Amino acid sequence: MTSQLAYKETFDCVQCGYCLPACPTYASLGKERHSPRGRINLVQMAAEGKITIDEITESMELCLGCRACETACPTNVQYGKILESFKKVKAAEAPAPFIENMALQKALPNKKLLAVMRASLRAYQKTGIDSFARKSKVLSILPEQLRAFEEIAPAVEMPNKQLRTGILLPERDPNARVAFFTGCIMDVFFAKINDLSIKLLQHAGCEVTVIKEQTCCGALQNHSGDTGTSRKLAKENIAAFEKGNFDYVVNAIGGCGAMLVEYDHLLADDPEWAERAKVFAQKNKDVSVILNKLGISFSRELSGAVTYQPSCHLLNVQKVADDPVQLLESIPGITYIPLPKGDVCCGSAGIYNIVHYEESMEILDAKMEQVQKISPDTIVTSNPGCHLQMCLGVKREGLEEKVRVVHIIELLAKACGIDHK
Ligand code: SF4
Ligand code: SF4
Repeated sequence: MTSQLAYKETFDCVQCGYCLPACPTYASLGKERHSPRGRINLVQMAAEGKITIDEITESMELCLGCRACETACPTNVQYGKILESFKKVKAAEAPAPFIENMALQKALPNKKLLAVMRASLRAYQKTGIDSFARKSKVLSILPEQLRAFEEIAPAVEMPNKQLRTGILLPERDPNARVAFFTGCIMDVFFAKINDLSIKLLQHAGCEVTVIKEQTCCGALQNHSGDTGTSRKLAKENIAAFEKGNFDYVVNAIGGCGAMLVEYDHLLADDPEWAERAKVFAQKNKDVSVILNKLGISFSRELSGAVTYQPSCHLLNVQKVADDPVQLLESIPGITYIPLPKGDVCCGSAGIYNIVHYEESMEILDAKMEQVQKISPDTIVTSNPGCHLQMCLGVKREGLEEKVRVVHIIELLAKACGIDHK
């Protein structure tokens, strides 16, 4: 089984240590085995049979998968591949609990179930059961991490059905044909961001289509070592988006986007799908890239001091660094302040903040120290996980009255005079 570890890739590491300052778990846990270099060494030793998979599990599972080490590495070590190979071997040795497998394999790709989940959450919030549950302390039976996220869960909005059917025409002469990728969790908690993204794309001159047959991107499954389900979902998405001759496939979700642009790696060994995956991966773009490329016109002046917490997967995997910042800097009336150590992960990392709550909060608290240094009134994010994590950070610091957290799309839409409804 250990022969499936990415052994060859570990030799690209020259042990220089350039990645150490970039690694949030090395900073917070302070041990070599919780650094990229240490983890690469451990995988190498496990592949050589010198240590067992069990012996490297704690270190590997405490990795956020933020891939900041890849960006820092002078020899282009493919750390993501090394980490994924460990996850795959681990999942084969010790399969995830039944409930987790059901959630990843059956629930996330099931649109009907997600719609029911969204409607239930909305009813929970709208009927006031949420505040009653908090006051009555009934939620104290939940683990601390679930209570923490329940309290900062955003108001759930239903997606605008008109924006999800047929071909949506641009506001001006068409300059691109795009298909919009909605994601699964995103469309439960942040359907409003998807709606606003579609309207902004129309505003920028795009003809937009939301393909009905699209499904979950497969990122969470892949991160938990279930490559089989990820490959299946990738093939379904590729086939769905091949239906139109689109210039781009656009999404507003840093984490999902990172999975979509790596479908070519995921399916590289499959002769029927490798080339199709490559074409699909190249067409995938974050919404900020397309809006910055095509240009948007602002009609409202905003105000305030705005900072930006990039999504690691947008920054380190999709390599999108400048577009969101350029867009923010172009909004009339706002002052953009770079966040010190902004390129360090906020500790969200998929479900890391649920399964490794304490470690995640340590990383978040360090992030909020940097936020406090610049005192912004708005923190801009580009991924739903980071969005929730930063909301939690603001709450932990008692800054709810002073600092708001928004997705970049919300700010851009406001400045363009685009409303949700
Ligand atoms: S920067 Fe790259 S080569 Fe250097 S220790 Fe880290 S992973 Fe290895
Ligand atoms: S992916 Fe992030 S947390 Fe994991 S080793 Fe690399 S920098 Fe550290």
